[in-house]
Amino acid sequence: MNHSRSAQLWMEANQVLVGGVNSPVRAFKGVGGDPFFAARGQGAVVVDADGNEYIDYVLSWGPLALGHAHPRVVEAVCKAMENGASFGIPTEAEVRLAERIRALYPGMEKVRLVSSGTEAAMSAIRLARGATGRDLVLKVEGCYHGHVDGLLVKAGSGLTTLGVPTSPGVPAPYAACTLTMPYNDLDAARTILDEKGGEIACLVIEPVPGNMGVIEPTPGYLEGLRDLTRRHGVLLIFDEVMSGFRAALGGAQARYGVRPDLTLLGKVIGGGLPVGAYGGPAAIMDQLAPVGPVYQAGTLSGNPLATAAGLATLEALTDEGAFEQIEARMTALCAGLGDAAAEAGVPVTQAQVGTMACTFFTEGPVRNYAEAMRSDTARYARFFHAMLERGVYLAPSQFEAAFTSLAHEDVHIERTIEAAREAMREIA
Ligand code: PMP
Repeated sequence: MNHSRSAQLWMEANQVLVGGVNSPVRAFKGVGGDPFFAARGQGAVVVDADGNEYIDYVLSWGPLALGHAHPRVVEAVCKAMENGASFGIPTEAEVRLAERIRALYPGMEKVRLVSSGTEAAMSAIRLARGATGRDLVLKVEGCYHGHVDGLLVKAGSGLTTLGVPTSPGVPAPYAACTLTMPYNDLDAARTILDEKGGEIACLVIEPVPGNMGVIEPTPGYLEGLRDLTRRHGVLLIFDEVMSGFRAALGGAQARYGVRPDLTLLGKVIGGGLPVGAYGGPAAIMDQLAPVGPVYQAGTLSGNPLATAAGLATLEALTDEGAFEQIEARMTALCAGLGDAAAEAGVPVTQAQVGTMACTFFTEGPVRNYAEAMRSDTARYARFFHAMLERGVYLAPSQFEAAFTSLAHEDVHIERTIEAAREAMREIA
């Protein structure tokens, strides 16, 4: 593969952008080497600046549930643009998007749209503190909720990739307001809630973590958290920015039948444009301005282009059989990857929940952050590059998820599994 144009752009990028990127995980630090530059995407395929094609399982880190440049999304966004990019005045699409979200997430009786997952998490935590009059936040090790100051404590995603437990720049007294506990450990939750429950505003968790690789909740874990938080008057916040419309159409809360107090969404609901959302019962959400005293606002919140892309995406995704197709392709991919690893004698633990998945390079089991950390990241890096050379783009970190889309067809899955057979042999 020729990478001369990407190499040139990478050199120029490093002159003007910090580390050449606008978001750390893009820099390939978790796998070594230099990133390629995307020129365009079509369906399941992303094309780089040198014209090389890759079957894309990153999909902009999850949002592109229909694949790149889906005709319905392109049409909806172009039409919205012709009518004006932003008003700062209410628009119908905001109402329709919120209605669509609520239809699948009935616990989100009232919705507030924002512009990113980070903003959804930050705002929901302010709301939880305002509504309960408590300051402490309980989070789970290895879960990532965006780059919110108080949530950059033992967080996953880029922090795990770069090995930064808690970011400098977060004042110690602020970080001290965040308590952490391991995932899938109900005893740990019980201990911390029995001791500090009365001071804790909320427990925020990725119900299916996707930022320390993908981990499935053990039976009874989410139900147990629901009981404990209710007993202590602690608001339970499910961060479904990644698991929303992926663990199931109705997210992890539908898949496991556990309703949180507040839900965070992002990624898929914007179809590739900047959107986030949070919501819950009116009694809590109405604490927000303009109804209540907790302030949160946004010039571009509910932006017409973003809501148009989100609506078109959710409409296509909720077409009869669409989600099941995307999930079936992921199931086939995971089976093929598992077989390829077994054939080559490479120990892996294959995790899949709905349309998100992860191949941990460890014998497993992987039930929490500490066990995810046992993965052989050097081996993952070699696998990543061996796949990239064969035209398959996986996440440039062991601790990120892979996604399928409506555009991933059997032929893409077959080609990927064929590439994996060779790649696994190469790294064995
Ligand atoms: N929560 C989760 C679970 C996420 O995966 C992410 C992003 N990967 C975020 C929050 C932050 O979203 P954003 O990057 O849009 O701010």
